[in-house]
Amino acid sequence: MLTATEQREVVELAREFAAEKIAPFAAEWDRTSHFPRDVIDEMGKLGFLGMITPEEYDGMGLDTLTYLLALEEISAADAAIAVSMGIHNAIPTTMLVKHGSPAQKEKYLKPMARGELLAGFALSEAEAGSDAASLRAQATKDGSQWVLNGTKAWATNSGTADLMMIMVRTDQPNARRGAKGISTFIVPTDTTGYKACKPEDKMGLRASNTAAIELNDVRLPNDQMLGDEGMGFVYAMEGLDAGRLGIGAQAVGIARSVLEHSIRYCAERKQFGKAIQEFQAVQFKLADMATRIEAARALTHRAAARKDAGEDVTLYAAMAKVFSSETAMWVTTQAIQLFGGYGYMRDFPVEKLFRDAKVTEIYEGTSEIQRTVIARALAR
Ligand SMILES: Cc1cc2nc3c(=O)[nH]c(=O)nc-3n(C[C@H](O)[C@H](O)[C@H](O)COP(=O)(O)OP(=O)(O)OC[C@H]3O[C@@H](n4cnc5c(N)ncnc54)[C@H](O)[C@@H]3O)c2cc1C
Repeated sequence: MLTATEQREVVELAREFAAEKIAPFAAEWDRTSHFPRDVIDEMGKLGFLGMITPEEYDGMGLDTLTYLLALEEISAADAAIAVSMGIHNAIPTTMLVKHGSPAQKEKYLKPMARGELLAGFALSEAEAGSDAASLRAQATKDGSQWVLNGTKAWATNSGTADLMMIMVRTDQPNARRGAKGISTFIVPTDTTGYKACKPEDKMGLRASNTAAIELNDVRLPNDQMLGDEGMGFVYAMEGLDAGRLGIGAQAVGIARSVLEHSIRYCAERKQFGKAIQEFQAVQFKLADMATRIEAARALTHRAAARKDAGEDVTLYAAMAKVFSSETAMWVTTQAIQLFGGYGYMRDFPVEKLFRDAKVTEIYEGTSEIQRTVIARALAR
């Protein structure tokens, strides 16, 4: 566990990096849909891709709270960079730490933690989003190899990563086993037959790479399977618990950034002879924005504390994700209103933040799915 001073130093490093290397370029990357792999690589050298990876696997071995504080800083500068960092740190890393063989940890986890390899996670398919267990991509055994075929949808980093954790069926069509028929494979993106399709033209997070993956006779040796056959869906859900905390921090970062822009704007913008911040209706809006952001941050950090204490976080991660993402959407909507006509224009930063906020209510489980997870936990 870090001391408060050490934690502040890590967060300060993230804030300085974000201010210098990310924030000044975020609008341009958004306009041109440019994914800055060089910036991600620099973050990797500083340890930001191995923040919660244990030190024995070349990571920083930090607690979840410190990681989320750093992620909030990166997200406040550009949520598109935060999603790459968040997925890599949370989902493939968690899956490898928990279920990787010693050889897989050596070959993949350690270079991932050192920032030499970028990873992603491909569960969704065009017909299997919320109902991910109905996925259809198929792996078939051929001697000592598995042969993967099918198409995955909307995978973050899929065209820019070095390896992807891919969930496919290993049960056969005549003996389907539902979620128990899904396994996870570690797929280097230079494997013959792996093809990342044209990046999606998205509303927000435009600098992040999101693309479908075509798997055409991708041949992998047995030892590219993660953990046990048939356990891939369970591993994916464990990864998503960690991932959802990251989305909580990402959403808080977006919301904080929009609040900071709004406070400045309301102090500068004059109507009826005075700064609009002097109108009580504007003050109340800012007050509500700040209060909801604090609540979202507190809920996310409480879930992080539970994770660090080794407790189950499924319920709390879902609460943090749904509350923070809906806060980000609400706060960015208020900000557009405060900016008036200028808020609707691309020249002002709040428009991008509004677009970026929306996806936090959708990916890694929609708000409706988070509520289903919460209700299920309450009924237990
Ligand atoms: C930018 C971006 C990046 C992404 N990155 C990744 C990634 O890296 N890896 C990956 O695997 N996936 C990724 N996804 C996919 C994402 O996780 C899915 O889009 C998400 O899970 C929702 O699935 P869907 O889009 O098929 O919506 P659907 O499941 O079709 O849902 C449509 C609507 O129906 C509602 N709904 C569905 N089922 C229920 C239910 N049981 N009860 C109540 N309401 C319900 C949903 O809440 C939603 O409002 C990404 C998506 C985006 C947009």
